[in-house]
Amino acid sequence: MRIAKSVALILLAAMGALPAGAQQYDLLLKGGYVIDPKNKLNAVMDVAMAGGKIARVAADIPAGQAKKTVNVAGHYVTPGLLDIHVHYYAVGASLGIMPDNSALQSGVTTAVDAGTAGYKNFEDFNNTIIKRAKTRILAFLNIVSTGMATAANEQDPDEMDVERCVEMARKYPDIVVGIKTAHYWTTQPFDARHQPWTAVDRARQAGEKIGKPMMVDFAGRPDRPYDRLLLEHMRPGDIHTHVLGRGFDPVVDYDTGKVYDYMFQAQKRGIIFDVGHGAGSFWFRTAVPALRNGFIPDSISTDLHTGSVNGPVIDMITVMSKFLNLGMPLDDVIRRSTVNPAREIGRTELGHLSAGAGADVAVLALRKGTFGFWDCGKGKITGTQKLEAVMTLRDGAIVWDREGLSKEDWRKLPKLY
Ligand SMILES: [Zn+2]
Repeated sequence: MRIAKSVALILLAAMGALPAGAQQYDLLLKGGYVIDPKNKLNAVMDVAMAGGKIARVAADIPAGQAKKTVNVAGHYVTPGLLDIHVHYYAVGASLGIMPDNSALQSGVTTAVDAGTAGYKNFEDFNNTIIKRAKTRILAFLNIVSTGMATAANEQDPDEMDVERCVEMARKYPDIVVGIKTAHYWTTQPFDARHQPWTAVDRARQAGEKIGKPMMVDFAGRPDRPYDRLLLEHMRPGDIHTHVLGRGFDPVVDYDTGKVYDYMFQAQKRGIIFDVGHGAGSFWFRTAVPALRNGFIPDSISTDLHTGSVNGPVIDMITVMSKFLNLGMPLDDVIRRSTVNPAREIGRTELGHLSAGAGADVAVLALRKGTFGFWDCGKGKITGTQKLEAVMTLRDGAIVWDREGLSKEDWRKLPKLY
């Protein structure tokens, strides 16, 4: 029946009985306020999709040109969000959560696992989680062989094999976007094998060999000061995540409220700063003075895992709402959750609504009212606005529709019997 109908339409079109290009779009999002920082779009516009790609973004695209139209007036339409710090692999000591019921419900279409797996278990992670998810999952490969699955290995330099790590990263160039180092807390006395910078330096070497960034989860100490990490051990384009934490990595002088000069020096030399909220790394006592002094993280990310998903992180859109209520303008919040993280991981085909790009789209509601938000130090702010993801599209398919925007009024549906 459906085939016969489409054949008839093609015949009618060939005979000139249909206007050229009738229903050339699969889906049209109509009347939303588009924020697409890469393309400098900031206005009410329609977004048309065809074949899983963005086909056209324009002021008024007729509904007749699309097979299906969804009215999104009153909502914001943005590129699908990128969250470049999550944990989706759950074996051993690692704390992964399931991707789709967290990412898609939050407007996130691309999430980057931050080193939950290393070269010994990456393929298991790929087979059991990455391949099966609707969310696009990319990964920083941990410099530690078993990633975060075996806590003791995270302290053992013998498990940080640059060549084996590089070999696995090269085998999966479309998934691995860089190298992660984290949780190297080993303490004095150091010996020939254990040195303060071992983990960072090996991750950087692996990153150099594959031409991709490393993401660093650090903890400054007298024997490895934070400023030396930023100014000597990281390359331009490398990412320091957890930047607004409790002060192990000193960003703000808590006595004067001033941001340390080396933070701005590091930004100038191209070091990338990422939020990586997590269970311990976002404190209003750091974030408020940092933002007030003009130190703005390049990307917003969650560090979602079993220990942060039920608070204080909850999800990407909640973390974005925190920045909104701290005074970051909405288009800036979107920029740091779309085009910026896409550039940081070298995937510039993502994070925008250019014609021809994959149709990854988030439809966001901005609720007004009184909302509480809390941090990793049990600190709280009361805000007046809150973002919510009402619809998410991955490659043109609706994968999340909280309020049934794309559904029919039940009274218009056919009788059941
Ligand atoms: Zn993490």
